[in-house]
Amino acid sequence: MMDVPLTIQSILRHGLSQFGRKTIVTRQADGGTVRQTFTELGARTERLAAALKRLGVTKGDRVGTFAWNSHRHLEAYFAVPNMGAVLHTINIRLFPQQLIHVINHAQDQVLLIDADLLPTIEGVAEQLDGVRHFVVLDKSVPQTSLPNVLAYEELLAEAGAGFDWPALDEDDPSALCYTSATTGNPKGVIYTHRSQYLHTMALGLVNNLGLCEADTLLPFVPMFHVNAWGLPFGAIAFGSTLVLPGSRPDAKAILDLMERERVTVAAGVPTIWLAAAELLEAGAYRLEAVRSVICGGAAIPPALLRRYDRLGLPVLHAYGMTETSPLASCAHLRTWMADWPQELKFQVRTTQGSASFGVEFRVVDEEGSDVPQDGKTFGQLLMRGPWVASEYYRDDRGADTFKDGWLYSGDIVTWDEDGYITIVDRAKDLVKSGGEWISSVDLENAIMAMDGVAEAAVIGVTHPRWQERPLACVVPKRDAQIRPTKEDILERLRSQFPKWWVPDDVVFVEEIPKSSVGKFQKRDLRERFAGYVFSDA
Ligand code: ADP
Repeated sequence: MMDVPLTIQSILRHGLSQFGRKTIVTRQADGGTVRQTFTELGARTERLAAALKRLGVTKGDRVGTFAWNSHRHLEAYFAVPNMGAVLHTINIRLFPQQLIHVINHAQDQVLLIDADLLPTIEGVAEQLDGVRHFVVLDKSVPQTSLPNVLAYEELLAEAGAGFDWPALDEDDPSALCYTSATTGNPKGVIYTHRSQYLHTMALGLVNNLGLCEADTLLPFVPMFHVNAWGLPFGAIAFGSTLVLPGSRPDAKAILDLMERERVTVAAGVPTIWLAAAELLEAGAYRLEAVRSVICGGAAIPPALLRRYDRLGLPVLHAYGMTETSPLASCAHLRTWMADWPQELKFQVRTTQGSASFGVEFRVVDEEGSDVPQDGKTFGQLLMRGPWVASEYYRDDRGADTFKDGWLYSGDIVTWDEDGYITIVDRAKDLVKSGGEWISSVDLENAIMAMDGVAEAAVIGVTHPRWQERPLACVVPKRDAQIRPTKEDILERLRSQFPKWWVPDDVVFVEEIPKSSVGKFQKRDLRERFAGYVFSDA
């Protein structure tokens, strides 16, 4: 067979030759949209590559982006890897110290920055060692304290049309993303052309997301977070119309776009789908074109899935991590489940699903032995596959994560006979009481299903007798008519869980701290309640 390298160049070539007239729609700050064809994307990608070359970017150099989801960001997605450089998408919500770390650690030479995000970079610019050029993703340079800032559109206008793409090896690095670490600085994962190509193909499989030409795809998962789950590559490869929500999108902006652009597939984390549910239930939108509401990055609360079922919007729960590019699994029902009772089918849809073709799962206990596929026994999920990382970039913290050819995910799961996994916790969030594990996720979901509860997190607090006991931190709904009391919550949990799982206490808090990508950050709660004394302790 021919040894044709699997590269992002060939993804773009295919998209341009087959779907040149398809469009990329970007929402603007004033609520309007900019529309571009794939053909225009191709031409502008060539200009961007030429401009970056003139700025001195050569093979293997890192180009950072600090930007929302937009057509300009998309141009960098293709121009940077295809010219042989490495695209480093920087999380715009990192704290200043982490931001400085990732930009210096990646050795970014050029930063492409959205105009409204310039102040964040201004605040850290003096501590960035290697950045030679700041490029603002706009027509002209606004007022800024940054030195030598260039305007993106001016650079593209000056660069000539056309670009000779270099020959690339499929194992060349293409992109770099950092993932949050439990302690210390974020850890980097380098993707290759080959890994991104294969991951893109997987997005098109019907057993996964089934992306195709007939789709209009709206990824509101940020393009700075695991490459927006790789979806922008999928849109170009399969010819889906791509809708990008621009700067500071909220649930309303996303629903407006979904309705107006007749979006068929939209993807993001549960927090935004939760906010969207309120608006949808108020009856303000008609989303007739939607075929898939993709929810991932954190577990979908079953109560939220029920709300979307009532709204008639089909949710697909997907799972993965930065280290897995990210798609690892999704929760489709199988044909042999067709006759199962409704409630059982519902449960399957709340799991993290079964492994995508290309990814292999194992689940092991603390001794490293495989646990039975009984849907009950807890173990750590291990993964391997051609889009699963084998190391962290210039970092020696990978020893516990990459072992014997497997990625140790840090996710504690059960798995059933059909291979569906259910995440019961992240290893670091498990509550260990009297030597037994308690799933904080199950308890949280039960509390969040109660009327009058907005959010809930369960954490382990040191206990003199049991080593740790669960404490429930609950955020009541602001405008709720009835707010559950501590006793109501405990009573509900007693009816659903073994006695020893039920939290020893409930505290009401203003909010659950969130990470930069909107996931519950229980570490902060653990610190806040570190010395908490249970009344019976
Ligand atoms: P981080 O949030 O640590 O920066 P990632 O975005 O890579 O990094 O997060 C990966 C983790 O997110 C997974 O290991 C898992 O714990 C969690 N996660 C992702 N998708 C889901 C899901 N569908 N259900 C539950 N947890 C999920």
